[in-house]
Amino acid sequence: MELLFLGTGSGVPSKQRNVSSIALKLLDEINSVWLFDCGEGTQQQILHTTLKPRKVDKIFITHLHGDHIYGLPGFLASRAFQGGDGPITIYGPVGIEQFVKTSLKISGTYLKYPLKFQEIKKEGIVFQDNQFTVRCLELKHGIQSFGYRIEEASHPGTLQADKVKEAGIPFGPLFGKLKNGETITLEDGRVFNGKDFIGEPHQGRIVTILGDTKKTENSRLLAENADVLVHESTFDHANRKLAKEYNHSTNVEAAETAKAANVKQLILTHISARFLPKDVYALEKEAQKIFKQTKVVKDFCEVEIPLQKDEDNL
Ligand code: ZN
Repeated sequence: MELLFLGTGSGVPSKQRNVSSIALKLLDEINSVWLFDCGEGTQQQILHTTLKPRKVDKIFITHLHGDHIYGLPGFLASRAFQGGDGPITIYGPVGIEQFVKTSLKISGTYLKYPLKFQEIKKEGIVFQDNQFTVRCLELKHGIQSFGYRIEEASHPGTLQADKVKEAGIPFGPLFGKLKNGETITLEDGRVFNGKDFIGEPHQGRIVTILGDTKKTENSRLLAENADVLVHESTFDHANRKLAKEYNHSTNVEAAETAKAANVKQLILTHISARFLPKDVYALEKEAQKIFKQTKVVKDFCEVEIPLQKDEDNL
């Protein structure tokens, strides 16, 4: 599970940063990729990565501002020429279906794969299967803007080798059965239940990706105990008044939310072009004073989200 940042700028693209788009790579888990927002030029950004557009089967849109959605029609149209024939579902605020359908219709674009829409009418669960649950809450951005919390189901515990050894079970093909929690009978007649040898389940990972927002309690709720919180940081602390005025957040506000939500890692994105590289460094340092595990990402940064191991739970 990795996050790949395709666009980390705010508002308008710059030479250094394209507008918003994030790929959540779930290749090992479900062999697919989920996109969060799709600003203009996202398809060109993808060309610089190993990402396969045909693997993208869900797109979550946080809000309908142009820098988050203008890349959608182009991405969808090109995907059909890049081996993409599987369906895509787009989740987002009411209006996203009309935007995409109108763009495709007027440009005479006919997709050769099924395109489904799930416009969000209320907060709560937007997607759920036996491996992942995606919830959303509304943020504060002047236009309807959502934050998404992606929760992975817990992983089964691992076979505790020490216990197996202690019980005198010889190494062999029966290990596999024990690992699956099955009951085994040894040649000498002893019977063991696999469940007695399996450790605690591993907590699934939690990733929170917020749309543009000023500081709001819902951000904290979405981010509670998350492995990673992706938060916008359009302004720095010195420009906090402007942030409020434009319905955006500062680096310091994002760090405060990360701290209050007890997340493991904070990723700052949606960085204004006004910040030169040295300012971005200062922006990161300023946030780290409040929440140490903070990182400002650049375009094409990839962040791995590791599964917590048994040792970590001891
Ligand atoms: Zn916005």
